[in-house]
Amino acid sequence: MSQEMESRGTRGLHHITAIAGPAQENLDFYAGVLGMKLVKKSVNQDDPGTYHLFYADAEGRPGTDLTFFPWAHLAPSRPGHGLASEVALAVAPDSLAYWAARLESYGVPVGAPENRFGDPVLALIDPHGLRVALVESASAAARPFTPWEGGPVPVERQIRGLDGARVGLRQLAPTEALLAAPMGLTRIAEENGWVRWGIPDGGESGRAHSGTRLDLAHRPDTQRGMWGTGAVHHLAWRVDDEAHELALRAAIAESGPHPTPVIDRFWFKSVYFKEPGGVLFELATDGPGFAVDEAIERLGETLVLPPWLEPQRAAIAAALPALTPPAASS
Ligand code: ZN
Repeated sequence: MSQEMESRGTRGLHHITAIAGPAQENLDFYAGVLGMKLVKKSVNQDDPGTYHLFYADAEGRPGTDLTFFPWAHLAPSRPGHGLASEVALAVAPDSLAYWAARLESYGVPVGAPENRFGDPVLALIDPHGLRVALVESASAAARPFTPWEGGPVPVERQIRGLDGARVGLRQLAPTEALLAAPMGLTRIAEENGWVRWGIPDGGESGRAHSGTRLDLAHRPDTQRGMWGTGAVHHLAWRVDDEAHELALRAAIAESGPHPTPVIDRFWFKSVYFKEPGGVLFELATDGPGFAVDEAIERLGETLVLPPWLEPQRAAIAAALPALTPPAASS
């Protein structure tokens, strides 16, 4: 791959957004049980009557961020092709025994210990049906990471950020073509019916140490997956800045998908498109980041709205359910 092509690809996962049930239960689980820091309490900018809750490391670094739309009125999601089926979160080596015991103490359904592509994995299901895998990722311990000092999980066991996601597809080839170019991912390995794509650690494009793994399964006989509670809504991929975003957007448009114009999400600038297999992808810039409107040490404490929704603050706040800090603790 040429230098130019590599520099135009994505740097890895920026955030993953999923659909939850009731917001308080979502907060209790992700902040209270998994010990991820709520770094932004905002609203869905396209549906301001719904929260948008962002969980990440204590600074809200791109690549650490799992976010939710709590749409409690939706039916459970329907698994199938064209939908991400699992979110993988990175933990440091030798952390899974701690996590198995912690999750068991909260009655969280967990799977048997697994090994995927050489990494120990513990799979679990969140309170609203989202499949989550904790992965002892070799590179996780080395990732830039700001721990949540006041969190319920010891610093050395805390979730370091996104590791990857699993996707089922009716056909692999069209999605693989997009991942290879223009997205700039590489086919890394195949195991137990899963084809792993990613950005190898190291090298210029791996400098951000973000989660980069996308595991694809060929599912020609399944029905189309449908959004609902417990579903992944979209996978967002990192770009350095708006120039990088526009260049990658143009290359994606040339390869077939129909990306949206750049949309200002205030904490980052976004472009959305459906990849050829039907999964909603986003490109998101690293900046300006979550500290643009709150001090790092106060992230997530109050309802934050982008400037264009501020005039409606009173009505928006009144329509949202009250949230209290997580019930669960260490
Ligand atoms: Zn997003």
